[in-house]
Amino acid sequence: MSPVDPAAGVLLVALPVPLPRLFSYFPAVDGPAAAVGARVRVPFGPRELVGVVTAIPDAPGDPGPLKPVHAVLDSTPLFAGELLASLRWLARYTHAPLGEVLATALPGPLRHGEPLPDTVQRGWQLTEAGRTAIDAMRPGRPRQLAERLAADAPLPEARLHDDPEATGWRAAARTLASRGLAEQVIVDPARPHSIVRPGPRLNEGQQAAVDAVLAGAGAFHPVLLDGVTGSGKTEVYLHAIADCLSRGRQALVLVPEIGLTPQLLARFRERLGITVHVLHSGLSDGERARTWAACLRGEARVVVGTRSAVFLPLPEAGLLVVDEEHDGSYKQLDGIRYHARDFALVRAQALGVPVVLGSATPSLESLRNAQAGRYGWLRLRQRAGNAQPPAVRVIDVRKRPLLAGMSPELLDTIDRALEADGQVLVFRNRRGYAPVLLCHDCGWSAQCQRCDAAMTVHGGGRRLQCHHCGARRPVPNACPDCGGLALQSQGAGTERIEEALRERFPEVPVMRIDRGTTQRRDALERHLSEFGSARGILVGTQMLAKGHDLPNLTLVAVVGIDEGLFSADFRAPEKLAQLLIQVAGRAGRADRPGVVALQTHHPGHPLLATLLAGGYGAFATIELEQREAAGFPPYAHLALLRAEAKQVEHADGFLQAARRCLEQAADGSLELSGPLPAPMPRRAGYQRSQLLLSSAGRRELHAALDAALPEIHALPDARRVRWSLDVDPVDL
Ligand code: ADP
Ligand code: ZN
Ligand code: ZN
Repeated sequence: MSPVDPAAGVLLVALPVPLPRLFSYFPAVDGPAAAVGARVRVPFGPRELVGVVTAIPDAPGDPGPLKPVHAVLDSTPLFAGELLASLRWLARYTHAPLGEVLATALPGPLRHGEPLPDTVQRGWQLTEAGRTAIDAMRPGRPRQLAERLAADAPLPEARLHDDPEATGWRAAARTLASRGLAEQVIVDPARPHSIVRPGPRLNEGQQAAVDAVLAGAGAFHPVLLDGVTGSGKTEVYLHAIADCLSRGRQALVLVPEIGLTPQLLARFRERLGITVHVLHSGLSDGERARTWAACLRGEARVVVGTRSAVFLPLPEAGLLVVDEEHDGSYKQLDGIRYHARDFALVRAQALGVPVVLGSATPSLESLRNAQAGRYGWLRLRQRAGNAQPPAVRVIDVRKRPLLAGMSPELLDTIDRALEADGQVLVFRNRRGYAPVLLCHDCGWSAQCQRCDAAMTVHGGGRRLQCHHCGARRPVPNACPDCGGLALQSQGAGTERIEEALRERFPEVPVMRIDRGTTQRRDALERHLSEFGSARGILVGTQMLAKGHDLPNLTLVAVVGIDEGLFSADFRAPEKLAQLLIQVAGRAGRADRPGVVALQTHHPGHPLLATLLAGGYGAFATIELEQREAAGFPPYAHLALLRAEAKQVEHADGFLQAARRCLEQAADGSLELSGPLPAPMPRRAGYQRSQLLLSSAGRRELHAALDAALPEIHALPDARRVRWSLDVDPVDL
């Protein structure tokens, strides 16, 4: 940074307000000087806001009458170097105000101006007296803890905290301490634990993948690790991370929301032998802030986190990993609409480190980049160890009698798997009892009053619920239109399938896993470990497509995917193919071979035929050709301008005016379609329209947006509607 003339020291501050500009302030009258990247508390109209100093220009010109900042909150900037530069890039790319982007990157307490929290890690170890006394101790929790400390100390509290087997450890520790048998100490997070479990010997493919990643160490080096489920991708990450740690650098691993299981964390901790920091939506605000601070201070050496972990500061970064890189949960759907995988690539480039994108079903975007040679492309074609790939059977259900959507053949297949003491997963991506309530006399169906959508039947057929706005009401006794009593639940969701399976297989446990049964984050894990590995049936939605290992799962039965074969969304085939392969990949992971039974009315559908004959790779090749022919991503770049209002004319009027601004700015380089109704034109009482922007060149798309957005912001209608811009939208 260049030396700053204190007299000229006007601060340019990014504030979390929806205005595309920075704000000037004089430095604080007293207190520490503000540096670029430090938070400040400033007056803003009648309010006080927390912002970030983003520049201190040498020659600010005449700033006019300015207010001074009220307080400088950081003596060391929170945003420095690479992170600040990458977030500036993100603000330009999403065309969002820098202040809002910076606020999004921070955990709540830091966003609201609280100081960086204390990150000292405490742990426990036995005293001399404790080591001598241990054999004489009575059985119980204190003795259990003492034995653990005898084997592995100092043991960080964070690890006891995460360990379901260590419940009540705090009381046990206090008991030991009160008798002088154990003591609390400060733990160095980078210090290895005494127990490090070695992993399996890598096979040739894995070793080649590890070598390729390590060969790129110290420079930006994107690698697509394209390996079937169970092929040992996680082992590859672990080896690359261990190498990164041995070079004294930090590693960040992004995982989908539902992939961050206690099993995965335990595996990382045991194998790497150091504290693994986490960041996910189940943490308290305080815990999130502590992880952020530990990263900034370089105390966190390995972090595993979901989408927003991509914003963690990594002053000593050595490696980024994005597991299940195709996963939809990496895209933020409101506020700053970033894609965590894409931003991880930007950060890896700015940091000059390798980034590994792993998936059994890579996104077409990443496959295209690999094909074009922009990414290294490593393939693991076989399951690691002895596990066999599952055999797939298609069950044609045309003209067959169905029980809650399941054919006699499918039920027989389930029966046989249970006979052989296996576990069965029945996959149906529709929660609730039934998708539709219909009057058999007049054709009336239950629609949400605030959305253009049918209400789903829940509660065993007693309740109606809208999955889009949350509206609920009881199922009416009679048809509201004709008064008839012939109301029928049409189709089957997971609840109804569960009910039918319980009746048909009364002797085995049936457990349903969907958002209805599994609201809380840890509930999925708890349910699955209660379910154990004995004979039984799991029924569930895509929540079951990954996470928690189910080694005894021998049959995956897929029911009711036919809607997905005929969706209007150009990404629907990709999403369906990924889901099918992911769910199928759950069968037969360990030594028991697995079977996948796919029930459909369209056994000859090209998507299914291609997937069955050639796997995901064959599907992706064909799908990419179709995307190219149709001018869709990854061969075109899209942005979506959405608007919603109580009256559709307002939303459309705004988009019409925006369209004119864009047409002028684009000079022919943009294709515009719309305003058109959104896929669900009315939701929660709002009319929703959209304008799609498409361009063959990324640069042209952004140039047009840069030129047009100031005018769009200034449109009189811009204040009358709720509108937003989504660059690289995923749901059109
Ligand atoms: P993925 O991440 O590709 O799904 P994992 O790394 O989780 O695969 O490996 C799947 C299973 O195979 C795990 O139980 C793992 O311990 C085991 N495994 C991985 N690599 C090997 C290997 N080289 N030899 C034996 N077992 C392995
Ligand atoms: Zn009726
Ligand atoms: Zn609704």
